Amino acid sequence: MNGRFPVIACLYDKTMKKSQVYKLNPTKTEEAMFRQFAGASRWVYNKALERCREHYRETGKHLDPRRFQGVITKIKKEPDTAWLSSVHSQVLQQPTINLKRAFDNFFEGRAGEPRFKKKYRNDAFRYPQGVRIVENRIYLPKIGWVKFHRSRDNIDGTIKSATVKRRASGWYVAIVLETGKVEPGAPVPTRESSVGIDMGLRAFATLSTGDVVDMPRYYVEAQRRRRKAQKALSRKQKGSNNWIKQLKRVQLLEEIIARGRRDFQDKLSTRLVEKYDLICVETLNLSGMKKALNLGKSESDRAIGQFLRMLEYKCAERGVHLWRADRWWPSSKTCSSCGHVNRDLKLKDEVFECPVCNLKIGRDLNAALNLVAAGLAETLNACGEDVRPAATQVDGGLTFVKQEPERYLIPA
Ligand SMILES: [Zn+2]
Repeated sequence: MNGRFPVIACLYDKTMKKSQVYKLNPTKTEEAMFRQFAGASRWVYNKALERCREHYRETGKHLDPRRFQGVITKIKKEPDTAWLSSVHSQVLQQPTINLKRAFDNFFEGRAGEPRFKKKYRNDAFRYPQGVRIVENRIYLPKIGWVKFHRSRDNIDGTIKSATVKRRASGWYVAIVLETGKVEPGAPVPTRESSVGIDMGLRAFATLSTGDVVDMPRYYVEAQRRRRKAQKALSRKQKGSNNWIKQLKRVQLLEEIIARGRRDFQDKLSTRLVEKYDLICVETLNLSGMKKALNLGKSESDRAIGQFLRMLEYKCAERGVHLWRADRWWPSSKTCSSCGHVNRDLKLKDEVFECPVCNLKIGRDLNAALNLVAAGLAETLNACGEDVRPAATQVDGGLTFVKQEPERYLIPA
């Protein structure tokens, strides 16, 4: 067995989580409580972030935001902040946990530095437990039984947590369900039943089959309109009636974009898990790439992150093998034909040219081919078949890390 390929989990046997979103139908009183709970969550998040930044400035060390939980209990007794005590205590603690995750993502290069939450934009709060559903009512601790639009009947599994969030068109709840253990599923993959996917900045995805998947046209158009609306918003006086009206417009477009993206990703991921036994993807360091290409915005980042999470949970649900490359593995720079690593390849180069074997191939397709070769070899090894990668040689000293399936959460 090749020592550089540690065994990865061959089949998923983890309990999987998935998330479903429903529109809430609150009374005026309930809505007022939503606003209060969301305001308190934001307040705690921002205070904890402020405290972390202060601590870093003073000591140069990072403070675990969860340490702020003890402070909450204390400040609830002070007259200025007594209003916090009307909010469920776990809802108040949750923002510090969210902030901890935001910092973890930042330190591990998955996201930018945590920023302060803003009113109107970040109106959300989360219960880590205690939420129940009976028919078309959902029980939110300390608020009560709230009506919701039960569009789908299959709320199967245990409710793990619930996030209430305000969007332009109203209040929504995203519930995270634990769906029980997954059947061991897919057969041992072959080259034909495997696919490598290069998630890109040019096309949304390039498959090792040569297929290129682009974002739908209406989605790109909605994004353009959103950028325009956003510009108009920045010209209005903040907090004025016109500003609030324009903000609503921006948020409605954001909803349309989010829905379109979700729909597109849903269809694409379903097609992939139906067709293949093994799907090989890359863990991209997108922030660095974007800086190099001067693309800015975290949109492509988020879209890809969401898609990968969706793919992950669908693979687990159906028992399809999912393989993720280490993010430092040079899948773009390696020749898919002879394995030569071309360190001179620039980010803007769209064609991969190999100085050793003279291969000339699209950059993204080359990466996708490398992913499927390495992923297939490693997965077969893990399944007990002793093989070496067909074409791709792995750069010495680089290690593959076993990737645990992440929690699947709805785009926030
Ligand atoms: Zn070559």
